[in-house]
Amino acid sequence: MENCIFCKIANGEIPAATLYEDENFRVILDLGPASKGHALILPKSHAANIYELSDEMAAKAMILAKKMATAMTAALKCDGFNIVQNNGECAGQTVFHFHMHLIPRYKGDQVGITWHPGELSDADKEEILLKVKEQLS
Ligand code: AMP
Ligand code: ZN
Repeated sequence: MENCIFCKIANGEIPAATLYEDENFRVILDLGPASKGHALILPKSHAANIYELSDEMAAKAMILAKKMATAMTAALKCDGFNIVQNNGECAGQTVFHFHMHLIPRYKGDQVGITWHPGELSDADKEEILLKVKEQLS
């Protein structure tokens, strides 16, 4: 993708603080970190979001997320870890090249990845189960 900044970063055309690189991915430090060590997994091939990502790359991305979380937790001595992946503007996506946020968490930090729990109504439950299962079959 010609004008995609994460394509350029992932493929080394724009320099970035790189924690890890292999043939499929580059992992960089986020320029606006939520916490110390906040990093991004970027695939080298363009997919705008999870819907466009191949199954093969999705599997590899998750394996890499585990590897990075393990190494970063040991290195940074964080107390917990969030893996966040946004799809669509309303979900908070601002860069439309698939990426996974690796967010080390520290006791007492002010990072907010929370929501107010609602209630699952019987009507919603029935509708959701029916519609999603229909799509999966
Ligand atoms: P999202 O809101 O999920 O699309 O996340 C985009 C993330 O990319 C944000 O956390 C930004 O701080 C980060 N970001 C944007 N541009 C750059 C860049 N050039 N280098 C590193 N991180 C960036
Ligand atoms: Zn891209």
